Amino acid sequence: MALIVQKYGGTSVGDADRIRRVAERLIATKKAGHDVVAVISAMAGVTDGLIKLAREMSAQPSERELDLLLATGEQSASALTAMAVNALGGKAVSLSGAAAGIVTDGVHTKAKISHISPRQIQELLAEDFIVIVAGFQGQSPQGAITTLGRGGSDLTAIALAAALKADDCQIFTDVDGVHTCDPRVVPESSKIDEIAYDELLEMAGAGSKVMQSRAVEFAKKFGVGFEVRHSQKELPGTRATEVTPGMEEVVVRGVSLDRNQAKVTICGVPDRPGCAGQIFSALSGVNLSVDMIVQNASSTGTTDLSFTLHKDDFALAEKILGPLVSEIGASGMMATTGVAKLSVVGIGMRSHAGVAARLFASLGEAGVNIQLISTSEIKIAVVIEEGELERAAQATHAAFGLARPRSQEDGPR
Ligand code: ADP
Ligand code: ASP
Ligand code: MG
Repeated sequence: MALIVQKYGGTSVGDADRIRRVAERLIATKKAGHDVVAVISAMAGVTDGLIKLAREMSAQPSERELDLLLATGEQSASALTAMAVNALGGKAVSLSGAAAGIVTDGVHTKAKISHISPRQIQELLAEDFIVIVAGFQGQSPQGAITTLGRGGSDLTAIALAAALKADDCQIFTDVDGVHTCDPRVVPESSKIDEIAYDELLEMAGAGSKVMQSRAVEFAKKFGVGFEVRHSQKELPGTRATEVTPGMEEVVVRGVSLDRNQAKVTICGVPDRPGCAGQIFSALSGVNLSVDMIVQNASSTGTTDLSFTLHKDDFALAEKILGPLVSEIGASGMMATTGVAKLSVVGIGMRSHAGVAARLFASLGEAGVNIQLISTSEIKIAVVIEEGELERAAQATHAAFGLARPRSQEDGPR
């Protein structure tokens, strides 16, 4: 007998029929002789709907109230799943994150888990219940409901699997695993059978939202093995693990896309110590995180400094930097939201040369202009015009030979 943590995402519990199918799967796992803890997300669209309503009440709703509001999405989906299991003859009980013993810091909307006391879950498992936990939430030491950032039910599942020393953690979603690129953008993308934590971490951080990056970080830190699988199909998915022999033979594991980008260029920045410090201190002073930063060597005494940040932070960045541009003696600022980021990721890059050349050549052939470039040990990222993202993704995917062979099931193109 094993202890299995299963997480079901929003689409997988998107309506009453789907909730019933999840309930059937939970009962089947229990009948196979396993203890089951299920982590449930809010039904598809519910979190976005609640955020929209909150913004109708206030342009900047209190983060404390927002957490209390958003946590209800996962609570109602969990209660409905427990009802479905019980109606189908199983035995289930649902718990909020707080009741499941998930304690976080007090940073609303992006709280960190500080510890988990799973005593109540263990008692319920001992009484043969299927235990259903509302994802995405916990409770601060002061007793306030907190949430774990968008996509945070993944983190709930991984953290519970670690705390309960589960034998397996299965992340059920609406695709059959982690693909070489978002299958909605590149339909010929292929499912990856096995992926290193570091690769998935880079992919998640670069916009592949199939797993929350904080959840992958947690899994790597605590050595939680997990599998991303399709919730409506009986197929093996993608296993995430530490690096295994042979993994480095694949040069590029996947292509990640991120549309939520904005780009700022401060032109004619005086080439003297302290200017970059002033610019980025002003941004960090209002809690804005930047992503890529590019500055060239200057031959004229001034230089252009560009960086990217999340689209949602764009307006605040423009407001903060406006007065600073003249203060530091720069000549102007250009800022735009119409950009996107494309990244190629793979631990094989550590030992293979020529990845940058192949990426840039394929984008060139597709007529896609590169605006910014940044690299890490296992990733090369470029910023391009948002309207060209799909074309760029398809060209890059093909250039690295990532497409699966087409089968008859695919139907006509
Ligand atoms: P859930 O609600 O189950 O948590 P998400 O919507 O958060 O599901 O994540 C699944 C979605 O992630 C897929 O529908 C797919 O469009 C998107 N996605 C982006 N990149 C990838 C990728 N590389 N592999 C698989 N899915 C991806
Ligand atoms: N419902 C939350 C979100 O939409 C958490 C999750 O789905 O994992 O971000
Ligand atoms: Mg998700």
